[in-house]
Parts: sequence; C-alpha cells; structure tokens
Amino acid sequence: MDQNPVLLVTGASRGIGAAVASKAAEQGWTVLVNYVQNESAARSVADQITANGGSSRIVQGDTGTEEGIAAIFAAVDREFGRIDGLVNNAGVVDQTARVDEMSRERLERMFAINVIGKIRCATEAVKRMSTRHGGKGGVIVNISSMAAVLGSAGQYVDYAAAKGAVDTFTIGLSREVAAEGIRVNGIRPGIINTDIHASGGLPERARDLAPTVPMQRTGTAEEVADAVVYLISSRASYVTGAILNVSGGR
Ligand code: NAP
Repeated sequence: MDQNPVLLVTGASRGIGAAVASKAAEQGWTVLVNYVQNESAARSVADQITANGGSSRIVQGDTGTEEGIAAIFAAVDREFGRIDGLVNNAGVVDQTARVDEMSRERLERMFAINVIGKIRCATEAVKRMSTRHGGKGGVIVNISSMAAVLGSAGQYVDYAAAKGAVDTFTIGLSREVAAEGIRVNGIRPGIINTDIHASGGLPERARDLAPTVPMQRTGTAEEVADAVVYLISSRASYVTGAILNVSGGR
C-alpha cells in the first residue's frame, strides 16, 4: 500500500483544483482527483501527475449530494485506507442575476455544493483523521472567495453568501478539532483565470475585472495552489483558523 500521505482534492479536474492536485503531488502527496462530469480532464490531471513521477487516482462524485460524497469516501477507504488531507475546492457559480431574480432551486443548488458539500466532506475527513476517532490527524483547506467579503452585488450574492458560510465554518471547525491533530484553514481567491466565469455566462469576466484589482491583473490557478500547498504542509504547522486572501489586493 502507498505510504505517502493521501490528499483528497474535490473538483480537481480543472482550474484551481487541478493546480492544487499537481503541486501537492510534486510535494509527495498521493492525490485523489475528484471530478463530477469531466472524466477525461480528471484523467489528464492524473496522467500528468504520473508523468512527473507522482501518484494519484481519480474518483467521480458530486459533492452536492450524499451519494456523491459516499462514493468519494468509499474510494478513499478502498484505494488507500487512510486520508491525511482534504482540499474542499469544488464550487460553482450560477448565471449572474439580482437577488430579486433568484429562484429557490438556484439557492438550494448553490448551498448544496458550495456549503453543505464542503461541510459533509469535512465531516467524513474528520471521522477518519481526528485523534478522537483513532486517526493520526490531518489538514483541511476550504476554498472560499473574496466574494465572501465583497458581496458580489448584481452578479451572485447567493454565491457570496455561501462563501461567507464557508469562512465561518472554517473558523468554527478549526477550533473544534485543533486539539485532535487537525488544522483547518481557508483561502479566498480573487479573480482567477479559470473556466468558472464562463460557467456563469461571463467568459470575459476575469479579463474585464482585471483593471479593478490593485495589482492590475487576474491571478492564476497556480498562484492559489501555491498558497494551498503551503497551508497543507508542515511549514504551516502552527497555522489554523486562518483565511488567506490570494487576490492581488482586491
Ligand atoms: P472551475 O474552473 O469551474 O472548475 C470547477 C471544478 O469543480 C471542476 O473540476 C468541476 O468538475 C468541479 N465541480 C463542479 N461542481 C462539482 C460538484 N458538484 N462535485 C464535484 N466537483 C465539482 O472552478 P475554479 O475557478 O477552479 O474554482 C475552484 C474553487 O475556487 C471554487 O470553490 C470557486 O468558488 C473558488 N473560487 C474561484 C475563483 C475564480 O476566479 N476562479 C475566485 C474565487 C473563488 P468537472 O470538470 O467534472 O465539471
């Protein structure tokens, strides 16, 4: 059995999650690359990790559902029999809209994936990592957004509110499990050049907003991944309950 520490990265087939998977593998983590739809993208992330001498597996699972989360953690148990880290990255936006145009169905999907999914993945990880449950400890990083602070008026206030919940969850969980060997931190990316903007109907959003960033540019998935890899490493051994802005000053 693989003796490397095992890291689950949700939503790792593209964007920030894919960059986290690659960089974590370079640091000696065996990575479980989760995806929901795009199996070929997940496979290329895993193939690239293998080509670079690392170790990974892929697993399909919708973090917005109980069945999806059960499938992901069944793969954790079956493939590795352990988990040492979780990067709660999977997240979605919706079409830009004002609050008075948002349906209940939209809000339920938004919170199912962006909030409940993250809490439920953390629940399963804590059950396996906490010394209270016989585990050896571990690390969790929750991917939030600067939207949690800025509010995303006129675009997706629901997404911003969900990310606010992620921040609060990060603080609370970090205190709850700090004495059980688990560190929990968050990252708030700013405007990062990934597919997420196109999925919200605004393919040029990153480019259009670049001039509003104090550093006058968008960020890359790799720049966010570098911060994640630091937080999951032993170099961050006394860091817990922290939420790091990776946003070019936005
Ligand atoms: P992205 O490019 O749209 O990629 C999304 C990833 O999440 C894909 O791997 C996708 O899998 C997966 N995914 C989506 N829904 C899922 C579900 N229900 N279950 C499992 N996986 C799911 O997104 P990104 O920009 O890298 O964003 C990653 C995280 O960073 C999100 O939490 C997002 O809110 C946050 N963030 C992004 C930005 C930004 O500007 N990009 C800014 C702030 C925060 P498939 O390939 O299978 O579809």
